[in-house]
Amino acid sequence: MKIVNLTPHPLVIQRTCPRCNGQTCEDSRGECQQGTITETVESSGIARVETTETVIGDVNGIPVVETEFGAVAGLPEQGWECRGKFVRFDETKPDWEPCQECGMRSTDSEPDHVFFAYVVSSITAQAILHRQDVYVPARPIRDDKGRIIDCAALGRIS
Ligand SMILES: [Zn+2]
Ligand SMILES: [Zn+2]
Repeated sequence: MKIVNLTPHPLVIQRTCPRCNGQTCEDSRGECQQGTITETVESSGIARVETTETVIGDVNGIPVVETEFGAVAGLPEQGWECRGKFVRFDETKPDWEPCQECGMRSTDSEPDHVFFAYVVSSITAQAILHRQDVYVPARPIRDDKGRIIDCAALGRIS
């Protein structure tokens, strides 16, 4: 699975090292830091939802706006890569069909296939709930000033 970051900021994911299970690897090759592996996925575009704002009134002179969400822009089509070629997922088919390129089942275990996990902002993810390949950063990790610096999970919004 290839993680594609479609938020404006680098995505920094911390996870428990599977080799030492959160202890510290004896022969650390630099990847395991006190049992944690940190992976950074740079932004490779921005998926955003189009919004329309209408002023519908005011509260003590402060405008109250209503936001209507429209189409999502900047998100690639759902599909997978087979031997370097993109194969589009056919939404009309009830299940994953045989790959149009190689004829094999379109599963993640197929070695020729690369699937994508698109990471977008929560507001964008809410506009495309039907897409199974869309994720948001989850389990935020904060620094000592309360700012979100990393995340420890990917989330699905339902
Ligand atoms: Zn380790
Ligand atoms: Zn294929």
